[in-house]
Parts: sequence; C-alpha cells; structure tokens
Amino acid sequence: MMKIFLSKKLSSLRHSNGVRHRVALALAGLSLSTGLSVGVATSAEAFSWRDLLRGGVRIVQGVQLSNMSPKQEMALGSQINDQLLRSELKLYDDDPELVAYINDIGQRLAEESDRSELEYSFQVVDSDQINAYATVGGYTYITTGLLKLARNEAEVAGVMGHEIGHIEGKHLVTQMAREAWRSGLMSAAGVDRNRAVQIGVELAVRRPRSRENEYDSDLRGLRIMREAGYAEAGMVSFMKKLAEKSGGSAPPTFLSTHPHGNDRVVALEQNLSEESLGDEGLDKDDYSQKISVLGPREAE
Ligand SMILES: [Zn+2]
Repeated sequence: MMKIFLSKKLSSLRHSNGVRHRVALALAGLSLSTGLSVGVATSAEAFSWRDLLRGGVRIVQGVQLSNMSPKQEMALGSQINDQLLRSELKLYDDDPELVAYINDIGQRLAEESDRSELEYSFQVVDSDQINAYATVGGYTYITTGLLKLARNEAEVAGVMGHEIGHIEGKHLVTQMAREAWRSGLMSAAGVDRNRAVQIGVELAVRRPRSRENEYDSDLRGLRIMREAGYAEAGMVSFMKKLAEKSGGSAPPTFLSTHPHGNDRVVALEQNLSEESLGDEGLDKDDYSQKISVLGPREAE
C-alpha cells in the first residue's frame, strides 16, 4: 500500500480547475483534521492522484534510488528478481549440482568484492541465448547458453566477475535513477516502488549499459578474478570469443546488454596484471565434465 500525504503546496493549486480544487480541498480537510496519511490502494491510483494534485502529494514510501542502504538495495533487487522470474527469465532447475557449482564460483568471487556486505546470488537461467545479467543488491544471472560457450571455469568466472563489477559500480541503479528522472517519475521523495521495479527489469534485460560502465566492470572483474586466484586470461579469451561471434548470424545477446566487445578486448589485454596471483580455472576437461548435463556443445 502506498501512503501519500499533502504538502503545503496545496495552497498554491490553481482554483480555476474545479475538479482538482475539490479533490485537493477534500484531501486537505482529511489531512488537516486527522493528521494521518492517506492510504491508496494501488500505485497507479497514487499516480493519478499525484497528477491531479500536481506536486501537492508526495510519495512517502518511494524508492530513493540515489541513496539506498545495502539492505534497501537488496530489497529492491529481490523485487526485481521476483518480476524477472515472473515475466522474463526461466531458471534452470534440472540439476541442483550444476546450480550449486555455478553459485560456488560466484560466492568465491563475491568474497573479493568491495561490496561484500551484500548477499550475492548467482542464478542459472535456462536459455540458449548467450547472456548474463546483474541488477542491484547482489543479484546476478547467467544463461546455460553462456555456460555451454565457455571452455573453462576461468571464462565463467570472468563473466561473473564482470557482473559483480556492475553491482559494485551501482551501474544499473544509477541508470534507473536517470531513467526515472527522464520520464518524470522521480519526486523529491523518490520513485514509486513498482515503477522502479519495472524500470529495473526493462533496463536489465533489454537496454545496454554505457561504454564507461562496461570498461569499469571489466576492470573490477579482472581485480576480483585475480584476488580469487583465477587466471585473468579467462576473461579475455571469453570476451574475444564473444566479439568474434558478434558479426555472425546469431550475435550473442550478451553484447546487446554489455556492448563494445572489440574495444573491451583491447582494454582488457592492456590491463592484465604482469604477475598473476593465480592461474586456476583453466582445466577444460574438468569444466566439460562439470557442465556435461547441459548436453553437447559447439566444437571449438
Ligand atoms: Zn556489462
């Protein structure tokens, strides 16, 4: 339930609009006589009221996208997750061992995140598309199609490190705030929670991150991989593979949400550390065996 209350701006409402004036007076009377906030059944209703009152109503329980605590960010991530699983992504659940294996890789990386106060989740999406997603508050996703394209665990860790990088950099939540301002949905008290979730879903699965965000996530991902003991080369080899496929008949959807593949390969190669802290995750046979339940894969 969305609560609203009336601000002093009510007195500045134009008297020429009869309907608006009457609603404003009715609400003002209620608010002044009881001092209570007014409950509204749905967010859509809240918005029509807001429009009617033109700034006279403030959204009390809106989401302050630019200033969330880790707990608030995780709560928003959880709501976006619910919506993604309802309308956009189907989770892979045929083999709990595979799901646990991917989560283990993710948790190992997450320990090196500079936002380790978040509870990260790494979910496997049942899809032939080659993609991975990160939303807010530690929620990340990777498709079975991507797992089948990867040749070793380090390549998977590279993608997951990159997604953790998006979370660390608060890229989606910043993009959501910009979108909410641009669409006129942001008030001083924030944006309506349901609208925020819709924006998050739309941006996460259908719109690209910026070039700056991609570079930033790559560098963060490299650092995270290195500190977790994985071979950084895994991130480069996988990005190269994606970039090579980008001109083909079925370009990886990863590049539609994480663009600038070719430029990023160059930048990644320049940023590989001279002394690797670890070279784990390069055993192809071990990886093939662990994901064999996904069936045959494309030949190299
Ligand atoms: Zn990205």
